[in-house]
Amino acid sequence: MPIDATLPYDPDNIFAKILRGEIPSKTVYEDEHALAFHDVNPQAPQHILVIPKGAYVSWDDFSAHAPDAEIAGFVRAVGTVARNAGMVAEGYRLLANIGQQSGQEVPHLHVHIFAGKPLGPMLVR
Ligand code: AMP
Repeated sequence: MPIDATLPYDPDNIFAKILRGEIPSKTVYEDEHALAFHDVNPQAPQHILVIPKGAYVSWDDFSAHAPDAEIAGFVRAVGTVARNAGMVAEGYRLLANIGQQSGQEVPHLHVHIFAGKPLGPMLVR
């Protein structure tokens, strides 16, 4: 069920629990600002999620309210994760869902990284 990205942050969302170590994840990268782990239901041969460590519902919340250092740290982390995974030469796709019509399901900002095959059209037609 898509979330309402205008609602306040819910500290019981599943990615908040991953950040607190309450549920496991297949971590591929971690630094001061970001955590990256494999998507539990991969939709490409490589499908990694990158999340900020701060409590932000969505890209909208993050871009409006996060301090510059957190934004820079997060954006750099996304690039680092893709680079470390060897995705640059063949290419990859970033995707962030924000709110109802996008289908966002987890109310903690996450950027999907897809790679490993030709990824097809940007949107289902
Ligand atoms: P979105 O629809 O953009 O909110 O994407 C949520 C993503 O989180 C989906 O691709 C799910 O497969 C993924 N997901 C949900 N729970 C977990 C989990 N515990 N560990 C890793 N990925 C998850």
